[in-house]
Amino acid sequence: MPQPALHLAPPPALPIVGRAEVFPVGRIICIGRNYAEHAVEMGHDPTREPPFFFFKSASCLCTDSAVPYPPQTSDLHYEVEMVVALASGGRDIAVDAAEDLIFGYGVGLDLTRRDLQAEAKKLGRPWEMGKAFDCSAPVGPITPVEACGHKRNGTITLSVNDKVRQHGDLDQMIWSVPEMLSVLSHSFALRAGDLIMTGTPSGVGRLDIGDTVSAHVDGLAELHITIVAGD
Ligand code: MN
Repeated sequence: MPQPALHLAPPPALPIVGRAEVFPVGRIICIGRNYAEHAVEMGHDPTREPPFFFFKSASCLCTDSAVPYPPQTSDLHYEVEMVVALASGGRDIAVDAAEDLIFGYGVGLDLTRRDLQAEAKKLGRPWEMGKAFDCSAPVGPITPVEACGHKRNGTITLSVNDKVRQHGDLDQMIWSVPEMLSVLSHSFALRAGDLIMTGTPSGVGRLDIGDTVSAHVDGLAELHITIVAGD
């Protein structure tokens, strides 16, 4: 039997602001409903229930400014999120030690096939088909902690075609970054290379082919993408 050749893509990685080296990405871990007004707009109670998480594959990472409209949806949504990049990991991390794991911060999008996610919720099925499609995680360059400090507050915004659609502050997170790292580390070992997407403020909405998206967190490298026709 002929042996097929392996066609492996290079491991996903992100640029690092001010450095020639790159940040190799292991896992992409996302928190759900971490800003109260977004929880309300999705029809949920904004009280501080235990956090919940889902994963995107590292292969969902997109560093190209042209992001293809995904298949099997007619309701692609943007969600701007601050991204935390880990320099080290471990288990059972205390909240007050969790920031020591952080390499740096970036700005990303948790792109979502909202129609498929809504169907999965209704049927009690996993979220991956709504959340973990190809190019579902556009992320900008990582700014090292030495350059930006730890990001506990600051404006987070998203504009579509120069119109502001999401506007919040990092201090509105229901679960802070150290708290979510600690919670995660009690379920599995965190690892260097993990990216944590920290939730989105209210104002999520749909994207169409041709839309340009600008995502901003104070003090971090901005992310600019355009939605293009998929092949
Ligand atoms: Mn999200």
